[in-house]
Amino acid sequence: MLIKRSRSLDPKKTQPSRRDFLSGAAVTAVAVAGGGALAGKALMPTSAEAAEVAANAKADETIETQVVVVGSGLGGLSTAITAVEEGAKKVVLLEKESFYGGGTNFAEVFIAPPATEAEARRKAAEFMKASNYVADPMLHYTMAIDQQENSGWLFDKHKVKTYVGEGSGLTFYEGGHGKSCIDTLVPQAKALGVDMRLNTQAISLLMKDPYTCIGLRAKTKAGKIIDFRTKGVVLATGGMSTNKALLAKYTSIDLEKVIIDGAQAGQDGDGHLMAESTAHGRATHLCVSSLFLNVKGFAFSSPLGACAGMQPTNLWVNQDGIRFTDESIVRQTTPCNKAVEIQGSVFSIMDQSGFDKYAAGGCQTHYTGFADKLVGQPIPNLAADFAKYKDLPDVFFAQTLQDLAEKMGVDAATFKATVERYNGFAQSGTDAEWGKNASNIWPIAKGPFYGFRLSSGMPNTNGGVRINTNAQVVDPRHKVISGLYATGILTSGWEGETYLMGTCQPVALWGGRKAAKHIVANLL
Ligand SMILES: Cc1cc2nc3c(=O)[nH]c(=O)nc-3n(C[C@H](O)[C@H](O)[C@H](O)COP(=O)(O)OP(=O)(O)OC[C@H]3O[C@@H](n4cnc5c(N)ncnc54)[C@H](O)[C@@H]3O)c2cc1C
Repeated sequence: MLIKRSRSLDPKKTQPSRRDFLSGAAVTAVAVAGGGALAGKALMPTSAEAAEVAANAKADETIETQVVVVGSGLGGLSTAITAVEEGAKKVVLLEKESFYGGGTNFAEVFIAPPATEAEARRKAAEFMKASNYVADPMLHYTMAIDQQENSGWLFDKHKVKTYVGEGSGLTFYEGGHGKSCIDTLVPQAKALGVDMRLNTQAISLLMKDPYTCIGLRAKTKAGKIIDFRTKGVVLATGGMSTNKALLAKYTSIDLEKVIIDGAQAGQDGDGHLMAESTAHGRATHLCVSSLFLNVKGFAFSSPLGACAGMQPTNLWVNQDGIRFTDESIVRQTTPCNKAVEIQGSVFSIMDQSGFDKYAAGGCQTHYTGFADKLVGQPIPNLAADFAKYKDLPDVFFAQTLQDLAEKMGVDAATFKATVERYNGFAQSGTDAEWGKNASNIWPIAKGPFYGFRLSSGMPNTNGGVRINTNAQVVDPRHKVISGLYATGILTSGWEGETYLMGTCQPVALWGGRKAAKHIVANLL
């Protein structure tokens, strides 16, 4: 990482002159660097170029403004709109991609935190425990306390529409995806006068010293370098799922075994690297969010993908042919992915009766908007789907269990014994091994037999940048880095290593609103 040391850090000269300030010499400019060269889909300059730009180039333009928001997902948009509503006159929103919304375009469910004080404390304590004491209870508590107001702001005042999913009872965005939320908020931000700039990447923070942020440097897709001098910078840059070097540095995932799926545009870890260039120091407590189990080669949302990967009614065996869990864990997003990841291989098994049952009656209820379409309804194209994918390396098909085991490379005797025991549970109505509900135990008896090797699917990361309950970025002792805020899945303190589903939307909304209000009340 390249640091241009500020003259203001020179102990002999603690106060930069006005001339220094205007020429940029008093600024510590630290670029988005450090492994970003591996960032698969970064559309803007490589990190090496960005580092050079940040350290050496003169800005083509300097803009004085009040608030600069980086990123146009729910975190960024809620910040920008709230800032104007609270009284800010000059608000700029930068988006490095050519479209708005980032990962938020793909969010489905909006899970609201608890609405009462007592419930908020109980849930905060629960989150702390469930995260192995990594989550910050005060962040959860504060978000919950603010929830009612924030929900009213998003759903009533700004008319972001939702509906309750059939069967799941969960709150989905209109159309099943967060794009409808983005499409609703973007015109409102523009109408309020937010200076919205697509194709413009924030590449470095402008720091007076490691504890004082005074703006940021951005580069447009056309190559123009702009310095924004501002009172408050709000980082809302999303995760780091395209940046393999950062994933290797901060997470424990095996990139060979995990399928990185979902929406990747813009998720390059830029915000993490910018925060690291301040007194915040190293990004902290990264969490890998996984949602859907996949079979390599076809989509989790396809009929076969949903039946093979996302139903509690299949039998799962590991590389040794042994059943290792109640397959209903598939209903718990990240936990089911972790359970699969921790084994060498996991095969999801069904027989012809199971296959026919899915074709005739559809999938079971699932939380996701994708699979909801396949729930409880015939899936006439299931056989055609299978014919299309049957030769893929992770799809196995055989007339006998012996042959299926051999094709999957598991010990046939152990596998057959596992199936026999499992069929016994189907008959007795009691899963004596892992306690699966009897209605989900479909016997594996009638050939031909199907096996699918499951892979964990990882859409993104959560966590990295430490904040306080005002959404201010803080150092390890929680000393504030003035002028610097963060929101959304970039921020840590919400989850442990395993994402427990549902915090992304409320966190992004909460942090954005909190940061905007704090800047307007304290810095303008
Ligand atoms: C398939 C899928 C399903 C999901 N389902 C759910 C769900 O059901 N419920 C839920 O709560 N969450 C869900 N999520 C997660 C959720 O969509 C997002 O993680 C969340 O909305 C993140 O919001 P954000 O504002 O933090 O970041 P994002 O919405 O990702 O926005 C970040 C933006 O910052 C931009 N950016 C990055 N770096 C820079 C830079 N240097 N300069 C300028 N711009 C930059 C990016 O291009 C991007 O547009 C899902 C995600 C996926 C992929």
